[in-house]
Amino acid sequence: GGFLPFGHEPYFDFTQPDVADLQRAAFRQVREKYVGQTFPLYIGGQRIEGGETFGIRNPADTRETVWHFPKATPEQLEDAIAAAKTAFEDWRFSDPLQRATIFKRAGELLRARRMEFNAVMTLENGKNWPEADGEVAESVDHFEVFARETLRWAAGKPVYPMPDEHVTTVYEPIGVVACISPWNFPSAIPLGMALGAIAAGNTVIWKPASETPLSSLLMVELLYQAGLPRGVIQFLTGTDDVLGDPLVDHKDIRMVAFTGSREIGCRIFERAARVQPGQKWLKRVMAEMGGKDPTVVCADADLEAAALGIVQSTFGYAGQKCSACSRVIAEESIYDSLLEMVTKLASEVKVGLPEDNAPLGPVISAGSAERIMKYVESGKKTARLVLGGERADVGKREGGYVQPTIFADVDSTNPLFQEEIFGPVLAFSRARDWRHAIELANDSDYGLTAAFYSRDPHKLAEARRLMQVGNLYLNRKCTGALSGTHAFGGYGMSGTNAKVGGPDYLFWFLQTKTIAQRY
Ligand code: NAP
Repeated sequence: GGFLPFGHEPYFDFTQPDVADLQRAAFRQVREKYVGQTFPLYIGGQRIEGGETFGIRNPADTRETVWHFPKATPEQLEDAIAAAKTAFEDWRFSDPLQRATIFKRAGELLRARRMEFNAVMTLENGKNWPEADGEVAESVDHFEVFARETLRWAAGKPVYPMPDEHVTTVYEPIGVVACISPWNFPSAIPLGMALGAIAAGNTVIWKPASETPLSSLLMVELLYQAGLPRGVIQFLTGTDDVLGDPLVDHKDIRMVAFTGSREIGCRIFERAARVQPGQKWLKRVMAEMGGKDPTVVCADADLEAAALGIVQSTFGYAGQKCSACSRVIAEESIYDSLLEMVTKLASEVKVGLPEDNAPLGPVISAGSAERIMKYVESGKKTARLVLGGERADVGKREGGYVQPTIFADVDSTNPLFQEEIFGPVLAFSRARDWRHAIELANDSDYGLTAAFYSRDPHKLAEARRLMQVGNLYLNRKCTGALSGTHAFGGYGMSGTNAKVGGPDYLFWFLQTKTIAQRY
């Protein structure tokens, strides 16, 4: 109670010519305002400039360096952790209402600048307009949701009473949290982790992915502008030899909140387990990792809806979402017709420039495209290629453009079925019946999202009971989780199931104090 009704931030309708014109104008402004600039670090509220830098490439044409960021030094890492420790002594006792007010204000500031943030993201990570807009809108939602969650958790929880004692359970912050994020959601993911940390009263080392630091920095500056005491978040960019293991290993880090690959997530989980000299706690690790997300289609399903959902969730943002569909498991009797429908729709997905709002843009880097093409080439020998399978040509651009690619008759032991490819590549597999389809869907190390299409209430109930994923979507696509509503995080090797945007998320960043008093 006590809150106004909540509504998710509506998306822009870019099919309206005036809206599209505004987005185009935002690209021009962003190019004037930011391209060629070198951005700072923030430590203890100070803007730190100078030193060695690295360039950020536009994935649409990797010959274009859009802006530059500093390479933090080991001394700057020490300074940042020390500053976060100092700031914690004040921020831990800050008024939750003050925290919530800052988040609300930051949300309003962002709402007024959404198109600018969209344009920055497109230039850094190659999202087209609605993909960038979806993420920036999600960031607005995060501010609103975390404002409410701050106040909800500040209230504590009731305990069973005793006649002669007054007993309370209160939640307290834990310390300095390192937030380490991936490039594929460069504003909403670091923002979600950092807001979780600071909503709970912790202070933060914010370490964005090296491909996409500006989408992150703009969020940090927005929070400062909204009144966040500056020492609460330190913003560091640089190389992994300085900001990877040394940050995770540091004795004054209380928790690592990580979203990214399985490889790095497992590495952090292991390293953080070691208690360093002088360290006075067991580190907490949140590690949200990859996915190999299936869509199951039963024979009785609405095949048109399924085909559309599959194409949107597989090829949106070139398949570079942890939630992206990458496997379709269809019952034998409808397998061929579904494959045909999906292939037809996918063949209409045009590859082009994200700044022109093409449906399918480049993958993040040349290295990523090479890795994807290795899977595609080996797939040509082990499965039946039905669409794509080559690099895409977009004229005189150098970028990781890959055709929408579909393989049929993929066996469950095939790497195309088991490994996260993180590109516009889909594997189709045959199931004997719908129960077999659920078995195949669960045949994975990962367990992030899944979609399941059927009209039969019994099958839907069995899917609810049996599907081993953190986010299960029935009769809808498996991407597009909304903050506050679709708490996000997976099972198995998809990670620690932290459920960002959900009702228990803040608990990750808190410790619980029981206080019993006799009079
Ligand atoms: P990544 O390579 O694991 O990088 C993630 C972050 O870890 C980056 O900031 C990276 O810094 C940093 N890092 C690298 N080495 C490190 C080390 N030794 N110690 C600490 N941090 C280190 O992942 P990515 O390629 O950016 O992201 C794609 C992956 O993220 C996919 O697997 C995707 O499924 C997953 N993902 C999962 C979720 C989820 O919610 N489950 C959401 C989105 C993405 P540098 O950039 O400087 O190398």
